[in-house]
Amino acid sequence: MLIDSYDRVVDYLRVSVTERCNFRCQYCMPEKPFSWVPKENLLSFEELFEFMKVAIDEGIKKIRITGGEPLLREDLDKFIKMIYDYEPSIDLAMTTNAFLLKGTAQRLKDAGLKRINVSIDTLIPSVAKEIAGKDVLKNVLEGVEEARRVGLKVKVNMVPMKTVNFDEIIEVLEYCKARDMSIRFIEYMENKFAKEGIAGVKSQELLAVLSQKYNFTDEGFDGSSPSHYYVMDDGYRFGIIEPYEDDFCKQCNRIRLTAEGHLIPCLYFDEAMSIAESVKRGDIKTAALVLKEVVRTKPEKNRWGGEDGEISSRAFYETGG
Ligand code: SAM
Ligand code: SF4
Repeated sequence: MLIDSYDRVVDYLRVSVTERCNFRCQYCMPEKPFSWVPKENLLSFEELFEFMKVAIDEGIKKIRITGGEPLLREDLDKFIKMIYDYEPSIDLAMTTNAFLLKGTAQRLKDAGLKRINVSIDTLIPSVAKEIAGKDVLKNVLEGVEEARRVGLKVKVNMVPMKTVNFDEIIEVLEYCKARDMSIRFIEYMENKFAKEGIAGVKSQELLAVLSQKYNFTDEGFDGSSPSHYYVMDDGYRFGIIEPYEDDFCKQCNRIRLTAEGHLIPCLYFDEAMSIAESVKRGDIKTAALVLKEVVRTKPEKNRWGGEDGEISSRAFYETGG
């Protein structure tokens, strides 16, 4: 079992399989990065899988594939199948923008993928274009329908922003509710790569909007999920991710692996250790030691909401969110 210095059990690994993306979301990657990680520095799926085995053997129970946009990476279904065949009980999920999901959902499901989280910030095509930098909404919504049709469980992530999609908070929730998909509103997290001047929406403002239409009760946190949950009178549950709140990190159970093999203990900070060299030379013992060290050094808290005004210099497209 992996336990950090604050007695938190770490059993959730998020794996970014590429930092590249077909979208240019304002809050994540508004511009093409100055340089991409050279292709030869990316770990192959076989190399990533060697590390997945180590992580599973050490106590990881949930693996989420993310990016960048994970569906840009060829043969993703084969990677999923490798993990599934090694340990079918692993909770295997993926976070995607869904643009390429239409032709791939069935293969991913057959390979062993159980759930997906899809980013839907708007239901208005022109707003989707404004947020993602291209005309994406039709493909995204078709991808979601396809995923549901093949039996993947779908959750939706929405990042509300003032003057961009603030007016659509209820519409997006209704879209999800009508399809029995849960929604998590993610507070915009400042970072050095986002477009300047984004005004995020904090949970109190969100709740004020939602309370104009719904009655709901505060359920608090549920296990190690980062969402603060609320349940409506009819039983529909929605979540809010509030990284600026003091107790946000208390139940954090996750670490992150980038596509080039950097193991990251916290989304906010620059700290990381590489497993690339050890995995490439088949030195599984060292990879396991690095994993334990990264868990040991996991910080108690992120610094979003800190008083020093510092902004995270971690790119979401690199860490996978
Ligand atoms: N491309 C996939 C997608 O968009 O779902 C997966 C990677 S993306 C980095 C993972 C999640 O991070 C998405 O739900 C996205 O909304 C969220 N995200 C990215 N930048 C963010 C920011 N600055 N604040 C809050 N959430 C952010
Ligand atoms: Fe791409 Fe996801 Fe970042 Fe948008 S949030 S730019 S879809 S990685």
